[in-house]
Amino acid sequence: MQAMKVAVVGGGLGGLTAAALLARGGCEVTLYERSKHLGGRARTTEVEGFRFNLGPHALYRAGAALRVLRRLGVNPQGGVPVPTGTHALRAGRLHTLPRGPVTLMTTDVLSLAGKLEVAKLLAGLARIDTGPLGPVSMRQWLETRLTRKDSQAFIAALVRVSSYCADLEALSAEAALKQLQSATAANVLYVDGGWSTLVDAVERLGREAGVRLELSSRVEAVVLQAGSARVEGVRLADGTVRGADAVVLAGSPADVAALVPGDAVLAREAREALPIQAATLELGLSALPRPDAFFALGVDGPWYASVHSASAKLAPEGGAMVHVAKYLGGADTECREAELEAVMDALQPGWRAKVVARRFRPSLTVSAGLPQAAKGGLTGRPPVQVPHIGGLYRVGDWVGAEGMLADASLASAEAVEQALVPRIATPQRRAAGA
Ligand SMILES: Cc1cc2nc3c(=O)[nH]c(=O)nc-3n(C[C@H](O)[C@H](O)[C@H](O)COP(=O)(O)OP(=O)(O)OC[C@H]3O[C@@H](n4cnc5c(N)ncnc54)[C@H](O)[C@@H]3O)c2cc1C
Repeated sequence: MQAMKVAVVGGGLGGLTAAALLARGGCEVTLYERSKHLGGRARTTEVEGFRFNLGPHALYRAGAALRVLRRLGVNPQGGVPVPTGTHALRAGRLHTLPRGPVTLMTTDVLSLAGKLEVAKLLAGLARIDTGPLGPVSMRQWLETRLTRKDSQAFIAALVRVSSYCADLEALSAEAALKQLQSATAANVLYVDGGWSTLVDAVERLGREAGVRLELSSRVEAVVLQAGSARVEGVRLADGTVRGADAVVLAGSPADVAALVPGDAVLAREAREALPIQAATLELGLSALPRPDAFFALGVDGPWYASVHSASAKLAPEGGAMVHVAKYLGGADTECREAELEAVMDALQPGWRAKVVARRFRPSLTVSAGLPQAAKGGLTGRPPVQVPHIGGLYRVGDWVGAEGMLADASLASAEAVEQALVPRIATPQRRAAGA
């Protein structure tokens, strides 16, 4: 029997993972990536010996990404965030961050009534049934479950740090609470050497399984069979057409729509997607001015700062790699570098004298589409299999019914594998197109 020919368009972590899984399942896979490098948003740049991910990246230890990577044989090394030296940031000053019963009682970012509300909510968090909460917005859920503004603000801060999403009016409570449950139950991993180590490992496994990688190779269109809604292959920028039995599109909703011009369904999905965005400041410091301060989380604004090198190998000996970020969204869609510098002034006063390398990004797309309450939450996201075009699939952090961020990318990659390589039985087997 002839192997199924699959064209994967996009060499980020999602496309690469799909390619490796499909090749292992016996498909003949060619992956096309328009840039010179693989990795997409999961790439890491080395600057003066510091390993800069594209903004703060953490792998959810209970998430689909780690599950799928392990299935492939990739075992990421690194560490969980340091539990000490963590602070709440309010009005530009550090306060005790409630992390457990003692800090919850001693912090001054919550009133006594707020502390009691938060304690009760967190004690029952793991048991919340998120199933019916798809169409409920996180804002609506917060205002129904918590009566006090201070407790609402604190839980909103936890939602931002676990989902990256500041638009709580749009975000489905189902997705937000699942993220929070996952983060509080099993924490996250900062990866030694940065996320490019994951990309490199998946690339190696993909090559070993026979994936053909074509870099600097932009796909311009999906080619459909004459007179039928079924894929025939892809057309590259130089006009050549490469035949394929199935095509997997692993870019953004706008990338997908552009590859099938005139398709009203894909165009509408692209128009209606709401990306999650963030501003980031990456800092390589020769040393930490305050060696005991590792983390700050804004409770009155969308701020984040974390010394990732305290947990993972990301800096030269003695140095520190710090990520500072502002979660954009809702009414607040812009960020000046000075806003992120002010967060560092609070966490690490004197940091400017220690700067070896720095990189500011005013707006990055963290996720191409957040799970919207208005669309029913996770199950309302576009399915992996494009229903009206035979042989057309998509992968990404805006696709399928499982997870957010890289977890959604890799869960959708696995769902494509399950659709195209049906004999594979995995523990998390879901219906094709889930
Ligand atoms: C600041 C920031 C922080 C983040 N933090 C986290 C985190 O803590 N945890 C987490 O799980 N996730 C996090 N993420 C999200 C994570 O990086 C992404 O979900 C994941 O990397 C997406 O991978 P992907 O392959 O689906 O998409 P991408 O990485 O965007 O890859 C898509 C690829 O497709 C290529 N492409 C598109 N169209 C074409 C075409 N026509 N022809 C050829 N190639 C094409 C693009 O060049 C690109 O390389 C973060 C992202 C950012 C930006």
